[in-house]
Amino acid sequence: MTEPVRILVVGGGYVGMYTALRLQRQLKTELRSRAAEITVVTPDPYMTYQPFLPEAAAGSISPRHVVVPLRRVLDRCRIVIGEVHSIDHAKRTATLSTLATEEEGAGHVRLGYDELVIAPGSVSRALPVPGLADHGIGFKTVEEAIGLRNHVIEQMDIASSTRDPAIRDAALTFVFVGGGYAGVEALAELEDMARYTARYYHNIKPEDLRWILVEATDRILPEVGEEMGRYAIRELRARNIDVRLGTRLESCENRVAVLSDGSRLPTRTVVWTAGVKPAPLVAATDLPRNERGRIVCTPYLTVDGVEHAWAAGDAAAVPDVTAGEPGKEYAPNAQHAVRQTKVLAENIAASLRGQPLKEYAHAYAGSVASLGLHKGVAHVYGRKLKGYPAWFMHRAYHLSRVPTFNRKARVLAEWTLSGLFKREIVSLGSLEHPRAEFELAAAPPPAPKDRSPGDSPGESSA
Ligand SMILES: Cc1cc2nc3c(=O)[nH]c(=O)nc-3n(C[C@H](O)[C@H](O)[C@H](O)COP(=O)(O)OP(=O)(O)OC[C@H]3O[C@@H](n4cnc5c(N)ncnc54)[C@H](O)[C@@H]3O)c2cc1C
Repeated sequence: MTEPVRILVVGGGYVGMYTALRLQRQLKTELRSRAAEITVVTPDPYMTYQPFLPEAAAGSISPRHVVVPLRRVLDRCRIVIGEVHSIDHAKRTATLSTLATEEEGAGHVRLGYDELVIAPGSVSRALPVPGLADHGIGFKTVEEAIGLRNHVIEQMDIASSTRDPAIRDAALTFVFVGGGYAGVEALAELEDMARYTARYYHNIKPEDLRWILVEATDRILPEVGEEMGRYAIRELRARNIDVRLGTRLESCENRVAVLSDGSRLPTRTVVWTAGVKPAPLVAATDLPRNERGRIVCTPYLTVDGVEHAWAAGDAAAVPDVTAGEPGKEYAPNAQHAVRQTKVLAENIAASLRGQPLKEYAHAYAGSVASLGLHKGVAHVYGRKLKGYPAWFMHRAYHLSRVPTFNRKARVLAEWTLSGLFKREIVSLGSLEHPRAEFELAAAPPPAPKDRSPGDSPGESSA
């Protein structure tokens, strides 16, 4: 019996999950006859539907419904929860650690493969801004989105209970850096949520909250085009959100955000959404990278100049064959990531069967963005929408896109229920410290200090 073809998928995000899912279908016969096997290595047992993170932060969708359980969806793949640290493609070997290897103290283990799909996505592109590494908050994961929600509500609790105006002002000042869809949607959804929540505080009015969007270029939301981007600025400013274009964050030390326009903003919240860069794993491989650190690919989604290696998504530089000019590559977004996986899976199956490969070609269709409940902006296939219709389109589009019928039904149920009832205003920040209560209960009583025998009611002096 011949050895199975071992396909290793690194990453369980958009590209990793959809490629493995499509491969499961494409290679049904091979998987059944054990002529092929698929292993997915990823740090979390779920795929995160990132476009829903702003709504999760606003409390419109529960965190569990923003993620898709990989084991349920990829039932014919082997799922390994772990992190790949390096890849030696020349030797067809990945070095990884799993929760078990950490427990066993075994260090890193090696995993051999025949075909590699590398899709570790991107991480926040943090610049060397003083104080950012210590105080900045990212917005790429479900943990960060929920943590930020809890943090914003906690700031309102701090402001409500302090008598110090400086603490109050800093608590109610929220600075977001980066005007792409992640930053704008996160800010708009959280501002909407906080304005609503303020009605339950006897001493906080919505006007007391200060929201600042800092953007280095002269526009926001480039994904929806210039006209709709200008509309989004007007809409945000009408809500008293301070949009500062052509401005950079210079530092955020000691709870003061210093901007390039000279302003100093005491704040306890600096959210950093100013772009992404390829995941660090990419630099720990022997695969070719471009000047921005992305893996150089061909239009067939093979890694350039290398056999049996494939890539797509945020970590991959795929030439944009629709651009009509050389040197252009597809932007890192979900629209391309998902579409690329279709070609990627078909091409892997075709290459195993000795058939010709297809090119990935897709002209960007435009984008939809939510600016809070019932507010939005969209520019899709040349059609421009704003306000309620754009927001409705945003929801309809993402509902159609979120993977699995199960998740669609749950998200729709949540939206329907939140339309009938009031918004959730609870902060469960204590979930981040689940052992705190028990640690307090189980801690030994403090050692008595200079206690004289007669102090305790149960003791009597001789
Ligand atoms: C808040 C937010 C909103 C967004 N909204 C939109 C939108 O409206 N429209 C749109 O088109 N795009 C949107 N995007 C962008 C979109 O989500 C990304 O382009 C898309 O997720 C890229 O897919 P990917 O598979 O390359 O990366 P990801 O989906 O990020 O997946 C990468 C996976 O690799 C794993 N990984 C990383 N390192 C390793 C390692 N060393 N070993 C193993 N696994 C590893 C990660 O844990 C993750 O599971 C948004 C992004 C964010 C953050």
